[in-house]
Amino acid sequence: MKDFAVVGSGIGGSSIAALLSAKGFDVALFEKESYLGGCSSSFSHKGHIYNTGATTLAGYEQNGIVKDVFETLRLKPELIKTDPAIVVMQNDKVTPRFADFENFFRHLDANYPHEKNREFWQLVHEIDAAFYTMNGHYYSNASMFAKLKSLVSFLPLFMKFQKYLRVSAVAFIEKFFGEISEEYLQFMESQILIVSQAGLKEINFFTAAISLGYTFHDTYYVKGGFSALFDMIVNNINEVHRNAEILSIEKHDSFYRLHTKQGAFEAKNVILNSTVYESAKLFVDDEVKNYYKKYEKLNNHQSSFMLYMTIKSDEDFFHHYQLIQNEQIKYTLSNAVFVSFSDKNDTKIAPQGHYSITASIHTDSRFWEDKQSYKSQKKELESIIFNTITAILKIEKESVVSCFSATPKTFQRYINRSQLGGNAITMKNFLPFLPSNDTPIKGLYSVGDSVYAAQGWPGVMLGVKNLERLLDA
Ligand SMILES: Cc1cc2nc3c(=O)[nH]c(=O)nc-3n(C[C@H](O)[C@H](O)[C@H](O)COP(=O)(O)OP(=O)(O)OC[C@H]3O[C@@H](n4cnc5c(N)ncnc54)[C@H](O)[C@@H]3O)c2cc1C
Repeated sequence: MKDFAVVGSGIGGSSIAALLSAKGFDVALFEKESYLGGCSSSFSHKGHIYNTGATTLAGYEQNGIVKDVFETLRLKPELIKTDPAIVVMQNDKVTPRFADFENFFRHLDANYPHEKNREFWQLVHEIDAAFYTMNGHYYSNASMFAKLKSLVSFLPLFMKFQKYLRVSAVAFIEKFFGEISEEYLQFMESQILIVSQAGLKEINFFTAAISLGYTFHDTYYVKGGFSALFDMIVNNINEVHRNAEILSIEKHDSFYRLHTKQGAFEAKNVILNSTVYESAKLFVDDEVKNYYKKYEKLNNHQSSFMLYMTIKSDEDFFHHYQLIQNEQIKYTLSNAVFVSFSDKNDTKIAPQGHYSITASIHTDSRFWEDKQSYKSQKKELESIIFNTITAILKIEKESVVSCFSATPKTFQRYINRSQLGGNAITMKNFLPFLPSNDTPIKGLYSVGDSVYAAQGWPGVMLGVKNLERLLDA
């Protein structure tokens, strides 16, 4: 019998499985797909390699949470620093999000002039920097005592930032600037959406500041695609089962039995990396079913439409662009397309002279449910995104070697989830309402972007470290 069975090899599942293995526990990791990494993976399609969703790695600066975990696991991934982290293009304005404040600010102020700009962006920078010096939070809502302990742990954060926690981002920004153009607001909104997974009206100013400040940190490009990184992460785990979907889980008094097509496995503890919205169906036990069912209402159905391309080109491109349009794009929830290019010298992901491109835009999974219109809608949006990217980034159509798209349905088919981005940290869905990494059920835990703390590499890793502490206690 294993000490731990981990269901899913996303950032959360792979990292906690590797950390527990490094401590000497007997761990088995189960992944439905042949490749590891979930939303942050890479895959091969007709001989070309693409990153699935995530394309940037943050949290890897000195004392950063991702670096901390990788160092514990003695991993030395092949990374390239990306600066500017993103090049934001809106109408005729090009704003590189350099990590250096002055370097970024010069471009920002030239493109969106306002007398309060310096004061505002300095505040964003300060809030962001102060937040990242606070570490080691305890978060659990498994019992009354655990809730109280969590509250005490977060008290310094609440005290320090309370005036920004209680006010909506849009109200704060409008009051701060007095008058602000729609274009400038959209510039902020688009960047906030890709980090917080929610709009300016839904979040508090604290979350907005952390989201706008994210590019002041070092961000990295992962050489060879994200899948290679996961192969390194899971290297020391006793058993890694690929193509092994967990179909159901039986809860017994002191262990769990997990069923796959290949047979049954037993473990004393189970860590789910499937989302809390979709985990109830794995269990027959009413107590567990009801625990996960109560979180299904948190599912905001937010998801992604993806366009993958391989091009052959001599041009130089930055790693990441955000292309902001004046109107919300049809069948989506956003005005902006996020476009990532492979590094020119990364021949592991694309041969010399080629680029692998992963582009994404927020959509709602419910927009893709009508079987009759699905195909034509997919083609139409594929063509809108393709034309937007090729026109703005001046990519010759003849240079396109391959191009195809994916919808929330595709994600559902491959990684068992159509909601992407996890729990959005909105005014309504802030601490202490987030699901925690432990549960009131003995031996059952959750990790990933639908539980504490948030999405993306640093967000999921905060949950991994929290779970590690809860298991140590
Ligand atoms: C389009 C897009 C772009 C993004 N860009 C970035 C970015 O640039 N930088 C960044 O840091 N973050 C980014 N993110 C967010 C980031 O990718 C996610 O927050 C993160 O990868 C989620 O990790 P997770 O641990 O929740 O696991 P998930 O990615 O959800 O993986 C869960 C895994 O569990 C497996 N699984 C599920 N059910 C079962 C089962 N029953 N049996 C076996 N296996 C199962 C799935 O197949 C999957 O592999 C992006 C996300 C998207 C969608």
